[in-house]
Amino acid sequence: MLETARVTSLILEVPPAWPGHRAGQHVDVRLTAEDGYQAQRSYSIASAPEDERLMLTVERLEDGEVSPYLVSELRPGDELELRGPIGGFFVWEESFGGPLVLIGGGAGVVPLRSMLRHWAAGPREVPARLLYSSRSLTEVIYREELLGLEASDELADVRLALTREWPEEYTGHTGRIDPSLLAEVAGEPEARPLIYVCGPNGFVESASAWLVELGHAAERIRTERFGPTGT
Ligand SMILES: Cc1cc2nc3c(=O)[nH]c(=O)nc-3n(C[C@H](O)[C@H](O)[C@H](O)COP(=O)(O)OP(=O)(O)OC[C@H]3O[C@@H](n4cnc5c(N)ncnc54)[C@H](O)[C@@H]3O)c2cc1C
Repeated sequence: MLETARVTSLILEVPPAWPGHRAGQHVDVRLTAEDGYQAQRSYSIASAPEDERLMLTVERLEDGEVSPYLVSELRPGDELELRGPIGGFFVWEESFGGPLVLIGGGAGVVPLRSMLRHWAAGPREVPARLLYSSRSLTEVIYREELLGLEASDELADVRLALTREWPEEYTGHTGRIDPSLLAEVAGEPEARPLIYVCGPNGFVESASAWLVELGHAAERIRTERFGPTGT
């Protein structure tokens, strides 16, 4: 399923022994070539635990080894070797409370989408806020779903930060995320929000350092780094 020009979601049928997953976890995908060469990469689970099908969302990196195959070569019915679900720290469950604050850059929105869907499916005892940095509106993954949630659910606050291009009528944040935007989205440190930051390394490092400078306790900030470059 095409999400954007460079991003595709894969819907997977898992074996009956699949144990289920927690929102925020990932799997390792291993590809094996005919000559036995293997390559393995991690992909976050985009679906919520209560969703019927397991979904991964992959961004194609032009010079990449694994992502171009998953986005452009894989066909319906093909088998994939998966290991997981993996990860016990970058997860959110209703019992953890909140406010739930999700900060994502690029494909870093994938595990946050799982958390947000999990939140939306539950009793929603805490508010949820997502700040999502993307190059342009056309590169916003899950755009309809996220903006639909923002429009229909007063406990959900979804904000975009568009770094390169934006339509004339766009009224949200332009440019990279910055401390004042983070302060707005994360709210008062005294409310002790539980904050999840995910994206490219530089994005995660800047955002988490600023959150600490803003007074948020480091132990309330959970991070997941996807790769080497910035958005
Ligand atoms: C826990 C975890 C979860 C992840 N979840 C997702 C996910 O849900 N969706 C997703 O698309 N990716 C995700 N990633 C990133 C993914 O694992 C791969 O790193 C990515 O798909 C690139 O693999 P590749 O084989 O195509 O590129 P490679 O052959 O590994 O690298 C090609 C080039 O791209 C650079 N590069 C590598 N990774 C990245 C990156 N993430 N961003 C920018 N440049 C990069 C390399 O330095 C190199 O120059 C996750 C990573 C981790 C650690």
